[in-house]
Amino acid sequence: MSATIINGKAIAAELRARVAAQVPAFRDATGRAPGLAVVLVGEDAASAVYVRNKGRATREAGMESIEHRLPDTTTTAELLDLVGRLNADPAVDGILVQLPLPAAVDTQAVIEAIDPDKDVDGFHPVNAGRLATGLDGLVPCTPLGCILLLRTIHPHLAGLEAVVVGRSNIVGKPMAQLLLRESCTVTVVHSRTRDAFAHIRQADIVVAAVGIPGFVPAAAIKPGATVIDVGINRTDTGLVGDVDFAAASEVAGAITPVPGGVGPMTIACLLRNTLVAAARREGVSLDL
Ligand code: NDP
Repeated sequence: MSATIINGKAIAAELRARVAAQVPAFRDATGRAPGLAVVLVGEDAASAVYVRNKGRATREAGMESIEHRLPDTTTTAELLDLVGRLNADPAVDGILVQLPLPAAVDTQAVIEAIDPDKDVDGFHPVNAGRLATGLDGLVPCTPLGCILLLRTIHPHLAGLEAVVVGRSNIVGKPMAQLLLRESCTVTVVHSRTRDAFAHIRQADIVVAAVGIPGFVPAAAIKPGATVIDVGINRTDTGLVGDVDFAAASEVAGAITPVPGGVGPMTIACLLRNTLVAAARREGVSLDL
């Protein structure tokens, strides 16, 4: 059997086009474009690429990209001051502080300083709490992208057995919450799980967010399962995911490739979140 390859690039392009198509209505209603402020601290090469791509995608969607590049000597106090100014700026609808921050900076304090209604990464505890309690909030981009990919295969997710591998605050935990919101039966496995593969083998849906190349082998996948590979691991042979893609695609029913799966959805969902944040702030109703 050969799995359906879920084309994240194409699905992300559609979402970006849907967002871009709504921007003129927002402009007409408010007289301005939605604005996304991105803050990059230091010289991390991967972060610089992400920030560049986010800026380009924001402009392509017809939105305003406001970029702040700060040296790696920036202090927590300086960063909190900048976040405070962005919170108060009416032209800024979304604030994204690119992680990781330099070790000397108090990352949690910076995340918590962002106005939750401008928190387009969805990492603020208020947004985590809203997600956990079923309130409208801003949802982390990567797990949201995974749900949108899953819906292309399973229009109805209710009742499916889902296993999330990983429990980080930015991927695993919000992923589990979103799957629960979709009425899946959710298991989260992590480094202290006794037999992770025994759980994964039961799953109709596997979301792998571990950060270990090829961690999930084909033998752990139930035939016909849908596999979403969040992992981005740089190896000698290039970028690989957390799933053994070549072998797994012979067993799974559908699977995301790396690259070209979840990655492009993350940026598309960031644009979506920026527009949602902007529309909520201005009381404009959009059709997203
Ligand atoms: P973290 O390192 O924060 O979390 C990894 C998780 O995997 C932890 O919960 C850890 O468990 C768990 N884990 C580690 N080893 C094992 C094991 N042997 N068995 C079971 N679980 C294990 O990573 P992130 O969540 O930030 O990222 C995960 C991956 O996703 C990375 O490759 C990252 O690059 C990628 N990523 C991709 C994005 C995209 O846009 N496509 C966006 C964000 C991340 P424990 O908690 O017990 O330590």
